[in-house]
Parts: sequence; C-alpha cells; structure tokens
Amino acid sequence: MASNDLSALLHQTFGFANFRANQEAVCRAATDGKDVLLVMPTGAGKSLCYQIPAIARGGTGLVISPLIALMDDQANKLTAAGLRVARIHSGLSREDARQACRDYLDGHLQFLFIAPERMRVPGFPEMLAKRKPSLIAIDEAHCISAWGHDFRPDYRTLGEHLPALRPAPIIALTATATPQVQKDIATQLNLHQPALFIHGFRRDNLHIEVVEMSKPRRNQFTVELLNRPGARPAIVYAPSRKAADELAGMLGRKASAYHAGLDTSVREHVQAGFQAGRIEVVVATIAFGMGIDKADVRTVVHIALPASVEAYYQEIGRAGRDGAPSRTILLYSFADRKMHDFFLERDYPPISELGKVAAVLNDEFKQPDELRARLRMDADTLAKSIEKLASQGAAQIDMAGNVRRGNNPSNAWKSGYDAQIA
Ligand code: ADP
Ligand code: MG
Repeated sequence: MASNDLSALLHQTFGFANFRANQEAVCRAATDGKDVLLVMPTGAGKSLCYQIPAIARGGTGLVISPLIALMDDQANKLTAAGLRVARIHSGLSREDARQACRDYLDGHLQFLFIAPERMRVPGFPEMLAKRKPSLIAIDEAHCISAWGHDFRPDYRTLGEHLPALRPAPIIALTATATPQVQKDIATQLNLHQPALFIHGFRRDNLHIEVVEMSKPRRNQFTVELLNRPGARPAIVYAPSRKAADELAGMLGRKASAYHAGLDTSVREHVQAGFQAGRIEVVVATIAFGMGIDKADVRTVVHIALPASVEAYYQEIGRAGRDGAPSRTILLYSFADRKMHDFFLERDYPPISELGKVAAVLNDEFKQPDELRARLRMDADTLAKSIEKLASQGAAQIDMAGNVRRGNNPSNAWKSGYDAQIA
C-alpha cells in the first residue's frame, strides 16, 4: 500500500488530517508485515500505529490489552469510527464472549480485544489459531517484563502462544523506555528482527515543580491549588488509602478516591467518570490511569514521594497529553526521604520483585548485595535531583530526566493555566 493510501485511510477512518511524527513510518512497517517495537510517550498516539496497519492489511487485528477500561476506550473509539469490533474480558457475559468468538471465526471482526489472561483459558489460543489474525498488537507491552513497573505475569504466557498465530506481524507498544525492558519485550514475545521505533521523550508542555512542604500543610495546599480556575482535570497521588479518602473528601463532590481498598466496579466507575468529565479530580494510591486516554489532565500533584523515578515519569506523563501547558507538583520533605530509605532498607524484596525497582537503573546487576547498594543509591539519586529542583524553584525535567531551567524558573509554569486567568 502506497503511503498516500495510508494517509487516506487515516483521514477516512479517523478524520485526522495528518500523521503525527513517526506514526507513518511505524504504520508502513507493520502494514508491510514486519514485527515492530514502538516506544513513544503516553499520549503520543501509539494506538493508531496498530489500528491503521490492521485496517490496511484486512482481516482481524488481535489486540492484547491489560485493562478493561483501556480496552473499552479503544473499542468504543473504533466502533464510533464505524469499524467492527469485539472485546473479550471478565466484565462481559459468557454469551458475549461466545458471540465474539463466533464473529471472529466467521471473519466478521476488524478488531478483537482480549485480556492477556484469556490466553490461559484452555482452547482459547487454539480457537484463535483456527482463523489467524492479520496483525497482533500487544499494548502496554512493558507489562511482560519483570523489569518494568507494571509487571503482569499473564503477559508471560503470550510468548508461548503467539507462534501458533503467525505469520501475522506483532507490534509491541509501550511508553517505557529503559533499554532493558525493550530487550526483554523483544525476547519474551519472540519478535522477528523487529523494526525499532523509539521516540521523543521530551514533553515541553509539562512544567515540573518540586516544593518542600511539611505533611500537615499538603492537603490544604492541594485543595487551594485545584480550586484555581484551569487546574482541573487533575490527578493527585497519595501515600495511603486513608490519605486518599481524606483528601478526596476535602476536595468535595467532584473528587473521588481511587485505591486498592475499593471494589473493581467502584474503581471502574471512577475511571469512567474521570474520562467523561463528571469527576474532575482523582486522588489515587495505585497505578491510576495506565494507558487511559484522558488528554486534558492539567495538573498532577504528588503529596508523597513516587515509588521510583520511572513511576514518577509515568505518573507526571499523564498530564498534558493534548500538548497544552500543564503543571506537575511534587510536595516533599526530608522526612519522606528518610522513610523511603527505611523501606528500602527494611523489606529486601525477593529477587523477582527487585527487577521492578532496579529497572530505573537501566543497568544489569549481579549480586544481591550490589543491587541493594544500588537501590540505596537510586533513592539518593532521586532525592538529590528532587532537592536540586527544589533549590531552583520551578524547573522542567524532560522525560529522559534532564533538568532544564527556564529563563526565570519560578515563572516557568505561569505560561500555563495561570496565564488564562489574567
Ligand atoms: P498512546 O497510546 O500513545 O498513549 P493514544 O493512541 O491513546 O496514545 O492517542 C492519544 C490521543 O492522540 C488520542 O486522543 C488520539 O485520537 C490522538 N491522536 C493520535 N494520532 C493522531 C493524529 N495523527 N492526529 C490527531 N490526533 C491523533
Ligand atoms: Mg496507549
């Protein structure tokens, strides 16, 4: 298919005038049947990079996705664009799942979304293999790696089932950039000489601030901050369920807590409400919003230190996906840092778990002792860069962790939403 055909497809299907940087090259490679590993920041537009090739190749694109909300979001968009789409996940009835399988086998579907654990259901991979997909997309592919921050053991089993679904090209998509995770994805999925597309981690519209503040003041500060015009939608990362509930209560009716103590149905309700704009602020303790396409998050506040540098990038990366100026603020105090050190000292996690933490180091390790030393070091590195930022007032970090100072750092974010008040 010629490249103007892919552009035409983009226009006809989604109504977009142009590919964004890099999307076209990725679409071309996958359309031509090459395996692809695509690393682009959240919000850059990875979904199109499997959707256009799947449509261009005809047949059914099989999409493996780790979250129901994420699946629903993409499936709804494709359905709205007039495509034939089915999903199979635990939130649907058995009959729906059966119907989806029948539609798949009859060749009626352009896209089939499944959760990774589906592959462990006896007979399911065999069913898929009866009528092979024309393309396989593994979304949030870093979930396959124990080195990543969102490891999902179910992703591991994909590697053993995918060969039976070939010769479809596999396209693995993630926003996680560490070379080690990339290598792991390619190995685990058994990608055949994948075309690598690793792009742009600068997010110039994100203004990153670090403010030293004692704990008792943080809630009130956050409430005032988020009551300013233009500050919402917003996500607040809190240290505990109790803290999340408390702050959500203070923020009032349009704010909700999101944590592991809530039922899945409540969490889904919060996610959907946030997506739809009914809920303006989510106060979360656990990975909130992975892959959720909420483009206009204006503020991300951390009222506690993030778990790792990598988690921090991911979490602040949820702000400003539409490219408009957005503000991220980390509130910290020396006491937090002490607590972090304490946790790292105390709970020597098992080796398999250590990978997640160690992923931020971008490095190989050999001895547990050495690793522990490095983890300490990494907590220090994080704390130091945070202190450095704090001493500069506001500054910007790009997604590769480079600190950039504006002409007048303390005014850096004023070009953001505060300017709209003036
Ligand atoms: P990612 O998976 O990389 O986080 P998404 O695929 O969810 O990002 O896309 C983020 C947003 O960008 C979506 O709202 C999508 O419709 C939009 N988008 C993607 N590509 C384009 C394009 N070429 N033109 C206009 N909007 C686009
Ligand atoms: Mg995505």
